[in-house]
Amino acid sequence: LPEPAPEDKEFLPVRPPVVAIMGHVDHGKTTILDYLRKSSIAASEHGGITQHIGAFSVALSSGKTITFLDTPGHAAFLEMRKRGATVTDIIILVVAADDSVKPQTIEAIKHAQSAHVPIIVAVNKIDKEEANVDRVKQDLARHGVEIEDFGGDTQVVPVSGKTGQGIDELEDAAVTLSEILDHRADTEGQVEGWVIEATTKSNGRVATVLVRRGTLKPGTIIVAGKTWTRVRSLRNEAGVVQMSAGPGTPIEVDGWRDQPEAGDEVIQAPNEQKAADVVDFRAELAERIRMAEDMEKINAQRREQQVQ
Ligand code: GDP
Repeated sequence: LPEPAPEDKEFLPVRPPVVAIMGHVDHGKTTILDYLRKSSIAASEHGGITQHIGAFSVALSSGKTITFLDTPGHAAFLEMRKRGATVTDIIILVVAADDSVKPQTIEAIKHAQSAHVPIIVAVNKIDKEEANVDRVKQDLARHGVEIEDFGGDTQVVPVSGKTGQGIDELEDAAVTLSEILDHRADTEGQVEGWVIEATTKSNGRVATVLVRRGTLKPGTIIVAGKTWTRVRSLRNEAGVVQMSAGPGTPIEVDGWRDQPEAGDEVIQAPNEQKAADVVDFRAELAERIRMAEDMEKINAQRREQQVQ
């Protein structure tokens, strides 16, 4: 569906930014996510016990909300990118202050640049004696990150995932950037989104859906890849039942006919018959493509035999 015209966009409601955390192994991604998760909406609702659903929302004292993806390896993220969709609005690039720029840091920079996703740098482990924030800034600048200190627009926030120092500033930086980028979305109309994680639990097949547009409610019929559901219940990362989920909100959805996959695009169907038809059509299409590929292989083998 087309994006709303720019002149219409300003009338749409503001939505939370979707933030992914990337960086070199052991630089502190998990530690920072754990720190952030402790202050998530669900944690405040449920005494701090959150479930892993691939994403969580943090409510700030300013009343703003940030949604963090915490899918390890960002499988869904990569799958969606292959299809040209960018689920993330902002990448927080974690760089350890005692280790500076490393191969996976460079990979993350390239990824962000090719996907046109803006970066905020979190220079982590500043509690350590060996920490050298200036060196990190210089190394990043050498790798094409336009650091604020050197006249660019990439913010660098010194943090410690261990002590929590600087994490508020990191959240503020994400909110400020989101305001500049003016993230808004239509909360009405046909629901659209992505599956960011899918699994089987005691209540059956579940998938975490990140809504991009519209509002999911119990009873909404959605198609994801080659399966569909009439939503029975919606649960947040604390397992607490919600009555709705709007844009930028990750929500666990149940009732799937088959297992959806991370990276599947979600669209609303007007009724169950239509949902089933779309799924059948996609299965048939996939089967035809598979048959065509098999035929191509057989033909290639024949041509090879003829040459011999
Ligand atoms: P990841 O591989 O990027 O997810 O890194 P982890 O979060 O697993 O952190 C790797 C190691 O660095 C762990 O032993 C953490 O306890 C430690 N670590 C993470 N953040 C900090 C920090 O801010 N300060 C210190 N001193 N150690 C940290």
